[in-house]
Amino acid sequence: MDLSKRPIYELHQLLQAGEITPLDLVDAVLDKIEAQESTLNAYIDTFAEEARRRAVELEDFPSEQRGYLFGIPMAVKDNIVVKGFQTTCGSRILLGFRSPYNATVVERLLKHGGIIVGKTNLDEFAMGATGEFSYFGPSRNPVDPERVPGGSSSGSAVAVASGEAIAALGSDTGGSVRQPASFTGIVGLKPTYGRVSRYGLVAFASSLDQIGFLTRDVKDSAILFTHLAGFDPLDSTSFDLPVPSLTEIFQDYQTDRPTIGIPREYLETEGLDSEVRAVTESAIRALESHGFQIRWVSLPHTKYAVATYQLICTSEASSNLARYDGVRYGFRASGYEDLQEMYTLTRDQGFGPEVKRRILLGTFALSAGYYDAYYLKALKVRRLIRQDFDEAFQEVDLILGPVSPVLPPKLGEKIEDPLALYLMDIYTVTANLAGLPALSFPAGKSKTGLPIGLQFMAPPFEESRIFRVARFFEEYIYPAIEPSQDLPF
Ligand code: GLN
Repeated sequence: MDLSKRPIYELHQLLQAGEITPLDLVDAVLDKIEAQESTLNAYIDTFAEEARRRAVELEDFPSEQRGYLFGIPMAVKDNIVVKGFQTTCGSRILLGFRSPYNATVVERLLKHGGIIVGKTNLDEFAMGATGEFSYFGPSRNPVDPERVPGGSSSGSAVAVASGEAIAALGSDTGGSVRQPASFTGIVGLKPTYGRVSRYGLVAFASSLDQIGFLTRDVKDSAILFTHLAGFDPLDSTSFDLPVPSLTEIFQDYQTDRPTIGIPREYLETEGLDSEVRAVTESAIRALESHGFQIRWVSLPHTKYAVATYQLICTSEASSNLARYDGVRYGFRASGYEDLQEMYTLTRDQGFGPEVKRRILLGTFALSAGYYDAYYLKALKVRRLIRQDFDEAFQEVDLILGPVSPVLPPKLGEKIEDPLALYLMDIYTVTANLAGLPALSFPAGKSKTGLPIGLQFMAPPFEESRIFRVARFFEEYIYPAIEPSQDLPF
């Protein structure tokens, strides 16, 4: 029995029944890491000894507090801080930086008896869509190691898809949880902006950043959501709203038939791969045949989404990343003569090409003469994008669309063309710009067996609606489309 590829709720039952121990689980995951990491490169750092020690200590965990996360080995994207361990953000500039505190999500995960097995690889400072912009080298897609797993939560997706973790934390600023989930055949949730605390998440673009979850299936996603979401006084953007329980979330999910909107513009996008389109269309037909009402909706400002996102995220990044100057965190260059040169050399040697590109673009967009033309304009278009969704949600309960317009590219295929990479984010950035919850889930495969995900989006704080329909799809629709098939890893 391969424990490393089973969902949390099944493992929970085995743990409760005393058939397995947390140490069995940690060992199952560590075996996978040992056997596959030289190819997959999902982790920047693994904590084998600490994880095994914690698994043993958990024997004393009060039995009445043993919920779903008790004894579950999990991975944490390396832009979320874990006390005492290095946090690199996939960058040379943070080498050697150890966090003096835990992120709130990490604190909650540990409180519920979770086990952290390591910190996962990512595009440097979460800027990227393939995982290739990591200082620690690219991760590889377990479905086809010649291909990228997506990004920026590349390592978190690979770890879960390949059994090197049972579930993982990621961050999603413009699609970085949903797109790698889609490329590796797993489930990725970006919760509503403000739903999950970001205290301890290294800032990339603060008005867009959200911590999210990568899991084997929809129910596991809801498990992480119910345990880790909720108000946190340490995050000023956190909302004080009750988080529904699992029972509330999944009540009547078999009979509930919300109305689902399909944005016309999404299927008219130039560059939409024909197989992604085919999977979208067959999902629509399948949902319809199960009694869901499908309606066309319009999101007319979609064509401006990538430009708007890039202006906002680079502007915010140029400000957020100003703090890495060799004084306080991690790496400092040597051979400088004065303070100014120390800053310059450190930033030049510490940041990789994509991060530099974004800092330069953002600094430009914010500069005095261009502020109104670029940054301010982008904020206004962002408002229009949000209004598109508000209007669409007057008519429908949920929106369904593709996650990525393309299949996972081969390693090296897109890295030289930043614009092509940015355009891959067309379907994911809008949920961040509008602050909406969105979940990507496996919906089909290409002829060559590559996973294709779709996403549901909902109005703010309506994650439950998404979980219900996505679980229905996973249970009643997907198995009919895709008979289950084991990954090579
Ligand atoms: N691919 C997007 C970008 O490059 C999204 C990144 C993210 O969500 N962190 O910015």
